[in-house]
Amino acid sequence: MLDATHDPSLRSFVDSANDPACDFPLQNLPLCTFQRDGGAPEVGVALGDRLVSLRALAAGGALPGAPDDFLGSLSTTLAARGLAGVRALRPALSLLYRDGARSVVAEEALVPASACALLLPLPPRSYTDFYASIHHATTVGAMFRPDNPLLPNYKHVPIGYHGRASSVVPSGAPVRRPRGQTKADDAPAPTVGPARSLDWELELACVIGRGNRLGEPVSLADAEASALGLVLLNDWSARDLQRWEYQPLGPVLAKSFATTISPYVVTFEALAPFRAPRAARPAGDPQPLPYLDDARDREAGAVDLEVEAWLSTERMRARGEGPVRVSRGSFADLYWTFGQMIAHHTSNGCNLEPGDLLGSGTVSNAAPDARGCLLELTWDGPGRPRRPIALPGGEARTFLEDGDEVTLRASAEREGFRRVGFGACAGRVLPAG
Ligand code: MN
Repeated sequence: MLDATHDPSLRSFVDSANDPACDFPLQNLPLCTFQRDGGAPEVGVALGDRLVSLRALAAGGALPGAPDDFLGSLSTTLAARGLAGVRALRPALSLLYRDGARSVVAEEALVPASACALLLPLPPRSYTDFYASIHHATTVGAMFRPDNPLLPNYKHVPIGYHGRASSVVPSGAPVRRPRGQTKADDAPAPTVGPARSLDWELELACVIGRGNRLGEPVSLADAEASALGLVLLNDWSARDLQRWEYQPLGPVLAKSFATTISPYVVTFEALAPFRAPRAARPAGDPQPLPYLDDARDREAGAVDLEVEAWLSTERMRARGEGPVRVSRGSFADLYWTFGQMIAHHTSNGCNLEPGDLLGSGTVSNAAPDARGCLLELTWDGPGRPRRPIALPGGEARTFLEDGDEVTLRASAEREGFRRVGFGACAGRVLPAG
């Protein structure tokens, strides 16, 4: 899995990519879809503070094939070249942009990222959100069922629900506070109005790169080979709408108003140095059924990422204060891996398609400051009032207010390898319409 593209000593002739704090060194090469000067959307790769126009490279003969394979979005590229063809870009780009390899074609394909609009990397065909953090499931379960927080199926089935693909938006797109039905416990009937308990959910999502035929499950051994890579995902949630609507079925309008993803798909190839054993199950927990278990998934099914949520309010920005970090945790201790989620999702014959998004579910760890949403961060135990989180300047939040901006980040760091990052997944709350 590791090859010359992971060599930590590799430097690029694009200076900004060599900054140790940069999310996009030559070892990362995440894929994106961008637009400059209102022109046609095209497929690019992030390198330092630049984007590489793959279309320009192909037009200049530095990449094989038709330049139009990179027009539109990554779905065009996947359809034209297949997942193997997309994977072949990494070694080619690693050579083209290496220090000392400077060529006119490679140089002319560079565009300042700040001059471009970053779009959805590919329009998702379908979106499924899992629930793979047992800490999240246990804390949230305890709010509704103090005596029985975790339902008995949790340790056997990767739980998920089918989300809404049409309202997935790229980082930077505003998120309008939804209206909906809510009902207070002591009210005789529901009312309609703006949601009052708006929340974020810090997640990673797996982008499918190659589909499977309807009726043909994907084995765990083949699962990751069908995936392109990962993006950050904010599963915005209106908790007061959710409380009233979700029983007995599941999340619907409480989540379908917006889901934000980061614009850069960090490929599984880039993440190869940061793989980790699947989190060990506590003694006494059942082992996964055979279709959800193999040696490779046990040994390296997890991805060791640090994940963070940052918050900035209108008042903080007016005073010139930067965002504050409100959560920091690890992505490595999920109860289920993306491989298991893919194998489970297709186990009944359901077909995944290129561009499908599989969310991990809120990433929460055991530590109280490593909880991936306000619902958990402000919870103080059964029956106790919520404890708002304190922000600089005397503000506090139990749930999000209009003007609040949430930014999710993730990065991977390991001794002997170059750190890679995911960029930002940001969204600002607009007042209800
Ligand atoms: Mn979620």
